[in-house]
Amino acid sequence: MKESRVYNYSAGPGALPLPVLERAQDELVGLPGVGMSVLEISHRSAPFEQVLRDTENNLRALLDLPRDYHVLFLQGGATLQFSMVPMNLLRGSGRHADYVVAGTWGKKAVTEARREGEVRVLWDGDGEAFTRMPRPDEWQPDPKAAYVHITSNETIQGIQLHWEPESSPVPLVCDMSSDFLSRPISVERYGLIYAGAQKNAGPAGVTVVILREELLERIPDNLHTMLDYGVHVAKDSMYNTPPVFSIYVVNLVTEWLLLEIGGLRKMAEVNAEKAELLYRVIDESDGFYRGHAQSESRSHMNVTWSIADSNLELLFVNQARTRGMHGLKGHRSLGGLRASIYNAMPLHGVRALRDFMLEFREEYGL
Ligand code: PMP
Repeated sequence: MKESRVYNYSAGPGALPLPVLERAQDELVGLPGVGMSVLEISHRSAPFEQVLRDTENNLRALLDLPRDYHVLFLQGGATLQFSMVPMNLLRGSGRHADYVVAGTWGKKAVTEARREGEVRVLWDGDGEAFTRMPRPDEWQPDPKAAYVHITSNETIQGIQLHWEPESSPVPLVCDMSSDFLSRPISVERYGLIYAGAQKNAGPAGVTVVILREELLERIPDNLHTMLDYGVHVAKDSMYNTPPVFSIYVVNLVTEWLLLEIGGLRKMAEVNAEKAELLYRVIDESDGFYRGHAQSESRSHMNVTWSIADSNLELLFVNQARTRGMHGLKGHRSLGGLRASIYNAMPLHGVRALRDFMLEFREEYGL
């Protein structure tokens, strides 16, 4: 680790791989062979078009994308997708949409979808304090639904879906914001995937949308131009000025995943190993630490827990900070503690946190 850098466990924007930051720094004043910064070249120039193409190709390679899927780079965050999805796929369809509500983000997605049409909540984890994802036997989408919407990883509660629904004629729409590119997925099971980049894929400012060609036929006429997936597909994400710098960094991150990590299977192995280190400390703490998630839904991206004596939590956060570990305070709505250990958090960063958790318990446990 560079001397001036701390470990950053923040939930997003989250840590980026150091080699990516260093390369962006090296190239900031002039892209190699271009003599201008990526911050100042025209988005219509050949060098930027190359960046866009490379980023898309890296994503296609990492996710093994079938040919009938489009990749879009949009703005407005994952939050705008809460609206764009129902505008494009529910409005005027004469159908309802099924939503799985497993946490805060799924709930927000429902709020926006209800402005567009009828929404049915297929499964709701609220009664269990959002401590788990649904099991496969609790999953019965209505064949007449326009689509089914799920959130693969609930960032605030720290719960993750560890199984992928089977393909069905009802398109599956997934908010993958906080576990996108953290593990391999079976893309053909999804009609549409979206992810704000600022956790695993790059900086804030760009949202990746992956959608199956066939869904374009369902889009109603007369949507506002910027809110119409069809326009962005037709214009290769260049209907207006795209977030050039964010896309450029996604290009570097995806290249890092391909060349340095060796793909998503490798990444998933490392991520599972990292998560296991922290969950083991929680499980073996005799109740000093209490995990929020039920074990089968534990997130490999966001580990959420509390301390039995909640008065110690602030002390934990402050002491961790003095040791160069930042961003461990839980989300304000849930309280407690949260360690986001996205792709870019190295194993040694998780080991450092594990060691601190053990020491802290030694010091303050009974
Ligand atoms: N969905 C999930 C799962 C998230 O974690 C977040 C952001 N934390 C969002 C949606 C909202 O993303 P954005 O801030 O990019 O709009």
